[in-house]
Amino acid sequence: MGLRSIKEIFITGHGPSSSHTMGPYFASQYILKKYKDVKSIEVTLYGSLALTGKGHLTDFIIDKALKDVPHKIIFNKKTKTKHPNTMTFKVTTKDKTFSENVISIGGGSIVTVDNINEIASKNIYPHTHMSEIMKYCISHDLSFYDYVVAHEGKEIFNYFKDVLKVMDEAYDRGLKAEGYLPGKLHVKRKAKAMYDAMEETTLGLNDVAMNVAIASFAVAEENASGGIIVTAPTCGSAGVLPGCIKYLRMKHVTDDNIIKGLAVAGLFGIVCKMNASVSGAECGCQAEIGVACSMGAAMIAFCFGKQIEDIVQAAEIALEHSLGLTCDPVEGYVQIPCIERCAIYAIKAINAVKLAIVIPNDDIHVSYDDSIKTMYQTGLDMNKKYKETSLGGLAEIIK
Ligand code: SF4
Repeated sequence: MGLRSIKEIFITGHGPSSSHTMGPYFASQYILKKYKDVKSIEVTLYGSLALTGKGHLTDFIIDKALKDVPHKIIFNKKTKTKHPNTMTFKVTTKDKTFSENVISIGGGSIVTVDNINEIASKNIYPHTHMSEIMKYCISHDLSFYDYVVAHEGKEIFNYFKDVLKVMDEAYDRGLKAEGYLPGKLHVKRKAKAMYDAMEETTLGLNDVAMNVAIASFAVAEENASGGIIVTAPTCGSAGVLPGCIKYLRMKHVTDDNIIKGLAVAGLFGIVCKMNASVSGAECGCQAEIGVACSMGAAMIAFCFGKQIEDIVQAAEIALEHSLGLTCDPVEGYVQIPCIERCAIYAIKAINAVKLAIVIPNDDIHVSYDDSIKTMYQTGLDMNKKYKETSLGGLAEIIK
């Protein structure tokens, strides 16, 4: 099968949701590009898009994308579709009416139902599973970054330089902002208050875990307010990697090394996406923040110069111990539990690396591919109440 470019794991755009905001935005753009002389468009949202679309600003973003065309948005909460993030575009042109189903598969990527490959980019990596990539890199004496460059080209460095810049800008904005996040939950932005509190308490300004958590809060709060962020691998989980980056900077890792580490994180993300899912609506939060946690662990281990086996083991530990994590955003807003969860899983990524360093790697019983397979199967078996529908869990208890 092979793998598509790791670029699709890191997409810059407006939050708060890659599947519910970015996906529908890109789908609307795709429709506008494909059909000429459009007179009107009717968009019907199904499944999770219909159930939590309001909180995720799905209607707002479709309105924005289709602003020059008369259009109507329908939230169909009853009709079942095979994929939970399906939308139908009924396009009326000068001569004819067309109907096209588009699926938002997570992380901002979209595919059409009729032609799954029509929108998705081509596979550029020859391998599909981490075990194959590992074997290849070890036998050819390549680092994971060398492997990425061999298939994406040298310019991938500049791509990730831009990614780091956008992440840093989101962190800077998030750390200064005060007030309330949009929506009816009345959640206060906390990153700045946390920073001030850290200064005033015995923790002190150099507390590592708190600095990591604050960076994750700052970016996740930017995402929740519709600010510009980078998916990693999704909007809801966009705060995890910036937390890990804060940690690397506190450990005096250079930006050049962090940029390469982001590319390595992308490799782990695309393996998860193509062998399982990075969509909360499809597989729960284990597929979003669980995958982000394993990407963060891989990045940290790589930046610390760890050998390939240790990098994979760190990522495996992070993913294995995120298994079963449900998605239950309160009222459909990517705020509770998403923001705090980004911080907790950034810290968890660091601890996964520490464990991987000290656990002997001659007695590994669970591979990264095993964890991915388990995550996917667990996600498919998970009750739909816990898959971005806001019908269960915290969403139900504290409503
Ligand atoms: S709970 Fe997790 S998967 Fe669900 S919206 Fe929040 S971050 Fe995304």
